[in-house]
Amino acid sequence: MEKQQFKAESQRLLDLMINSIYTHREIFLREIISNASDAMDKLAYIALTDDQVGLSREDLAITITRDEANRTLTVSDNGIGMNKAEMEENLGTIAKSGSLSFKQAMEKNEDIDIIGQFGVGFYSAFMVASSVTVISKKYGEDTAWKWVSDGADGYTIEETEKSAPGTDIIMTLKADTEDDKYSEFLQEYRIRELVRKYSDYIRYPIRMEISKSRKKEDSDEYESYMEEDTLNSMVPIWQRSKKDVTDEEYDSFYREKFFDYQKPLRVIHSSAEGTVSFKALLYIPGKAPMDFYSRDFKRGLQLYSSGVMIMDNCEDLLPEYFGFVRGIVDSQDLSLNISREMLQHDRQLTVIARNIEKKIKSELKSMLENDRENYEKFYAAFGRQLKYGTVSDYGAHKDACQDLLLYYSNKEGKLISLKEYVDAMAEGQEKIYYVSGESKERLAKLPQVQTLSAKGYDVLLFTEDVDEFIPQTLMTYSEKQFCNAASEDLGLRTEDEKKELENKAEEMKGFLTFVKETLGEQVKEVRLSADLGSHPVAMVPEAGMSFEMEKYMKRMNPEFAYPVGRILELNAEHEAVKAMVSAMTSDPLKAKDYAQLLMYQAQLMAELPLEDPVAYTELVCKLMK
Ligand code: ADP
Repeated sequence: MEKQQFKAESQRLLDLMINSIYTHREIFLREIISNASDAMDKLAYIALTDDQVGLSREDLAITITRDEANRTLTVSDNGIGMNKAEMEENLGTIAKSGSLSFKQAMEKNEDIDIIGQFGVGFYSAFMVASSVTVISKKYGEDTAWKWVSDGADGYTIEETEKSAPGTDIIMTLKADTEDDKYSEFLQEYRIRELVRKYSDYIRYPIRMEISKSRKKEDSDEYESYMEEDTLNSMVPIWQRSKKDVTDEEYDSFYREKFFDYQKPLRVIHSSAEGTVSFKALLYIPGKAPMDFYSRDFKRGLQLYSSGVMIMDNCEDLLPEYFGFVRGIVDSQDLSLNISREMLQHDRQLTVIARNIEKKIKSELKSMLENDRENYEKFYAAFGRQLKYGTVSDYGAHKDACQDLLLYYSNKEGKLISLKEYVDAMAEGQEKIYYVSGESKERLAKLPQVQTLSAKGYDVLLFTEDVDEFIPQTLMTYSEKQFCNAASEDLGLRTEDEKKELENKAEEMKGFLTFVKETLGEQVKEVRLSADLGSHPVAMVPEAGMSFEMEKYMKRMNPEFAYPVGRILELNAEHEAVKAMVSAMTSDPLKAKDYAQLLMYQAQLMAELPLEDPVAYTELVCKLMK
């Protein structure tokens, strides 16, 4: 028989497993049992719609057999089984889910300690076994197959005999050494302990022959005998009462089920009775999975109906903006014979989804209010999703999202919510001010921001692409209008002051025209501003637009990007502007150079690239001479 080699990826993972440190080895049993349970779930699912199976949930069970003489530990199930091709595919190559994320995490921080927290799959058997034999017969097929491997040099597959469908995983334990006692995994008490610790909630009985003793009839003596016992309580964690579940149990269930090596930030365990009864166990992760912001990410909750898993990622249970939540929903009120397509339109499902959305929102809100440190951790990972949620579908979901947003406050030097901004607004302040750009540090130095700060007004500093779309979607928050401080009228002037500025502009009309003509197509308009504080100039976008959006469009699709009109604002009170005004009559050529120079400066401050940096430096040198 020809030996097949493991795929390269798998080989590396195997090496990690085989050499893993002692204390984590015990999780192999959890992994093997969990696979058995999955295989039975699959068969149970088929049985729902196919009478041919002739099995009901009650007939499904896992059996553990210890053979101390031969040093083998066998885990058997009567689940779906595997045929030859599936053995090759599933056992010869690294599995997608758990093992892969495990390997990636390992490669990132080389921390072997995380092994116990992962769903590492079938390969973990090689942590304790020198050789593994898998005998399996797929439901509905006639031939059974035997897969054998000692881990290191590949595997073999051959035909074999097996009467009923299902799978036996036979592990020949490694020999004991001075330091490593593998024999413990043959001990009755140890196996019982491991099942209780890791697999208690498995919803099929895990049975094993247990030695018991009884009093002999008509005698005071005791005799021992063997009897099959169920080791697990079979009550899934979400069916248990909240007060009976420890934090540790919640955490380890999460890690194992959702392949995260970090603790979740929050656990929501809820139970609803009423038109639709259901139990939900939801987790808010502390870190976004690598593919979270990509199309590959599968959001949704696992859906169970009376203990049978019917869907792995039920999207209809979770709105997209809360797509980061992981968890399980179990309801006995869903009709089981319906197909998955029909399920999507199930009315009960809608009721559950609405209830869950409310739960998540209030949990996040309470975290924001009472546990800011963790909320910020959460926000760093998933804030972007909430922002997308706010602007998606033309703001249809803003009520769910807007109160959960955080922005960097120029005044406080930290993240604040919109509510906190409004609550802290200075007397006389009418608007919610924001500016957007690439860095907070640069934004804080913008003339308009400084003008507002001097008045005691806070400004939100936006640094993400999506940020600017939020004021446009919300229009107002708590009846306060948003104002882009870099481009819109700050609204600080009284009518008299505005009039004064208009008069001044009228008075300086000749000068403003001179500057505009000098700069030509480079700017759309030149005007005076009284909001520039100690700065001579600022470059602002034409009404309703922003330079950040221009850059964003350019990145998204250069073909459709169009330049936003640039408006040069001048501070008539500034010495540099005054110098330009007087040069206009005494030395017009120099005045032109000044105009150009100030325009370059305005561009730099607005984080706009200079098209011709050489011209800029030459101009500076020329003026210095
Ligand atoms: P994962 O369970 O994360 O997919 P594993 O390495 O544990 O990865 O298992 C790989 C695959 O092998 C499983 O997805 C399943 O298709 C198959 N498999 C493992 N154990 C069994 C079993 N007892 N019965 C049927 N199929 C199994």
